[in-house]
Amino acid sequence: MHNAALAGLAGTDVRYAAWRYHAFDIAPSDLPAALDRMGALGFRGINLTVPHKVLAMELVSRADREAADAGAVNTLLREGDGWFGTNTDGYGLSAGIREDLGIALAGSPVVILGAGGAARAAAAECLRAGCAELWIANRTRKRLESLLERITPLAKGIPVRALDPGRRPAGLAKGALVINATSAGLREGEPAPADLALFPGLAAVYDMIYNPPATRLLGQARELGIPGANGLGMLVHQGAKSLEIWTGVSAAETAPAMRAAAAKALGY
Ligand code: NAP
Repeated sequence: MHNAALAGLAGTDVRYAAWRYHAFDIAPSDLPAALDRMGALGFRGINLTVPHKVLAMELVSRADREAADAGAVNTLLREGDGWFGTNTDGYGLSAGIREDLGIALAGSPVVILGAGGAARAAAAECLRAGCAELWIANRTRKRLESLLERITPLAKGIPVRALDPGRRPAGLAKGALVINATSAGLREGEPAPADLALFPGLAAVYDMIYNPPATRLLGQARELGIPGANGLGMLVHQGAKSLEIWTGVSAAETAPAMRAAAAKALGY
C-alpha cells in the first residue's frame, strides 16, 4: 500500500519516483545492527512490527509522547545519526473508527478486549481522545492488571475499569464501542473473545483484525444488529500517517490509494 501511494505521488512530484517501501525479516537480536545499517544506507524511515515495536524503544535517540504512552514505536524517522521514534497506531485506530463507523472516540464509552501491545496503544488513544469511560477485559488477569497500572496515569479523571470477559459489565453506559485488540479470530473460525449479548445497547464493534476480513466477533455483531468494522482502516491510516512523517504529504491525501491497494492485496 505504501508503494501504491508513492507511485501516485511520483505522478506530480518526480522526487518520489525513486522512493520504495521494502519488507525485511529481522531477528530481534539483529535489530540494533539492522537499524544502524539502514541508517548508514540512507533509509528515510522504518515501520516496525511485533516484537520490534517494544524493543526499539531502547534503541531510538528520541521518542515522542505517542510512543511513550503506547510503550512502543511503530514508526522511525532518520534524524542525524539516530532514529526518532513515534507511534501511529493510535491515530490509525481513531481514523479507522471514524471513517468506517462514523464514531469519534471523544465522548464515547469504550470497551477494549485484550491487554497486549495493540490494547495498550488503543487504551492510550482512547484516553488521549477523551473517551467517556474505558473498560478493559482480558483472558489473563495478570496481564490486564499490568496494563491498567501502565495506563491509569494517562486517565486524567476518565474512569478506567477492569472487566471479566465472561460477565455482564454492571454499570457500563449505553452506546459503548467495543474494540477487539486480542488476536482471537486471526485464525479462521476461532471463537470470539467475548459474548456481545452480555453488553447492553452497544453502539458498534471495531475488530482490529483485518485478515480474515470477518471474525466470529463481527459475525455476532451482525446477528445482533450492531454496526461493525474490521481493522483494515486502522492498518491503512497508521500507514498513511507514517508516510506523512517521512514525506510531509498529508495522510488524508495518500490514504485512499493505500486503502485500495491493501484491499486488493488482501483479496477483499
Ligand atoms: P499481543 O501483544 O500478543 O496480545 C494478544 C492479546 O490477545 C492478549 O491480550 C491475549 O490475551 C489475547 N488473546 C490471544 N488469544 C486469545 C484467545 N483465544 N481468547 C482471548 N484472548 C486472546 O498482540 P498485539 O500486538 O496486541 O495484537 C493483537 C491483535 O491486534 C492482533 O490480532 C493484531 O493483528 C491486531 N492489530 C491490528 C492492527 C491494525 O492495524 N489493524 C495493528 C496492531 C495490531 P492473554 O493476555 O490472555 O494471552
